[in-house]
Amino acid sequence: MSSIRHTAPLSCAISDNQLVIGGFPITRLTERVGRTPFYAYDRALISARIAQLRQAMPDQIHLHYAIKANPMPAVVQHLAGLVDGFDVASGGELKTVLDTPMPPNQISFAGPAKSPIELRQAIAAGIVINLESERELLAAVQAGEALGIRPKVAVRVNPDFELKSSGMKMSGGPKQFGIDAEQVPAVLGRMKTMDLEFIGFHIFSGSQNLRAEAISEAQEKTLELAMRLALEAPAPVRALNLGGGFGIPYFPGEQPLDLAAVGARLSELLPAARHALPDTELIIELGRFIIGEAGVYVCRVVERKLSRGQVFLVTDGGLHHHLAASGNFGQVIRKNYPVLVANRVESGDEPETASVVGPLCTPLDLLADKMLLGHAREGDLIAVMQSGAYGLTASPTAFLGHPPPVEVLV
Ligand SMILES: *Cc1c(COP(=O)(O)O)cnc(C)c1O
Repeated sequence: MSSIRHTAPLSCAISDNQLVIGGFPITRLTERVGRTPFYAYDRALISARIAQLRQAMPDQIHLHYAIKANPMPAVVQHLAGLVDGFDVASGGELKTVLDTPMPPNQISFAGPAKSPIELRQAIAAGIVINLESERELLAAVQAGEALGIRPKVAVRVNPDFELKSSGMKMSGGPKQFGIDAEQVPAVLGRMKTMDLEFIGFHIFSGSQNLRAEAISEAQEKTLELAMRLALEAPAPVRALNLGGGFGIPYFPGEQPLDLAAVGARLSELLPAARHALPDTELIIELGRFIIGEAGVYVCRVVERKLSRGQVFLVTDGGLHHHLAASGNFGQVIRKNYPVLVANRVESGDEPETASVVGPLCTPLDLLADKMLLGHAREGDLIAVMQSGAYGLTASPTAFLGHPPPVEVLV
C-alpha cells in the first residue's frame, strides 16, 4: 500500500480512505456537484499558497496572478482579494478580471497579435498594455488618440538570456514574444515624443521551473537588464514585471521548488535594484504555482476492461477535458500525472497496474498509462491531482462532442 501512498502528492488530504477536497470527502462532493466529470478547486489551498508566497518573498514584491493558468471566474474573484494584480492575455480574460474589484492600474495585458478592439478596450479600461512589438506601440498610440485617453504602456522585452531548465522557454534567442532587448533602446527613444504614459518593463523568461538557482539567476539577469534599459526610458520606471516561472512537481522524482531560497536570493538583489529603480514596483507573475496544486479533476469508472492481460479503467473523463494529463500539452516524453482511486485511495485488495482511459476514439485519450493504483471497480471515482492549472481551458472540449465538465470552487 505504501507504494500507492507515494504516488499521492503531499498537498492531498485523505480521510477514511477518501480524497478530501475543501473539507468534503470525494463521494459527498461528487453528490454535491451532481455529475462527473468535474474539476474542483480548493479555496483554502489557494489562500494557503498565497500566504506561503507572502512569507517567502520580500515584502516589496507585488504578486500578480496570470489568469491563463485558470480563468474560472470564481477562482479569479477569490484571488482578487489575495494578490496585488492580474495579468491577462486576451480580451476575454480582460473581461473576467474587470468583473473583479481589482484596480485597473494593477492589471496588465500581454500577448502577441492584440487586435485594435482589444487595444481600445484596454485603454478605455485604464489597464497597462505590455507591448509585444513596435507595431503594437503604434497601434496603441493611435487607439489612444482616437479615444482621447493616453494609453498606459510597458515594454515587454525579449531578453538576451533564457530561464534555464524550464518546462517552457519563453525568452532568449528568436521569439514571437516581446521586443528583442537590443532593439528596446531605439523603441524607448521613439516613445519620448509619443502621447502615452510609460509604465515600465515586462520581462518574462519561462515557466514550470523547479530549480531555485535557475530562477534566481534569471531574476538577477532580469534586474540587471531592467536597470540598463531604465537609463534609456522616456520616464521613470514605475513597474517592473520580473516574470515568474515557479513550477510545481508533477512526476515521480520531482521535488517542490525551494521557495525560501528564491525569496532569500531576491532579498539580496533588492538593495541594488532599489538604488537604480527607486520608485519602481517590482512584480512577480505566477499562474501554475498559485493554482496548480489546488485543483483536481474527477471522473468515474464506466467499465473495467481486461485486454490481453492489461487492465483498462474506462472512464467518462479524458483528454477533451484534461489535455495536459494525457501528455499532449507540451510534454516531450509522456509521464503520468499523480492519479488515484479517490473513493478508495488504499483499497483492501492488492494494488494493481492499470491504465486509465477516456471515452474518445483515439489512443491518445490516456489519463494514466500502466500505473500502480488501488483496485478500482466500476462506479469508482478517479482523481487526477495537480490539475488546477492548464486544465479545462487548455483542453479541446469540442473534440468528439462529449459534454464539458463542471467546475466548482469548494
Ligand atoms: C503563461 C504566462 C504566465 C504564467 O505561467 P505559469 O507557468 O503558469 O506561472 C505568466 N506570464 C506570462 C507572460 C505568461 O505568458
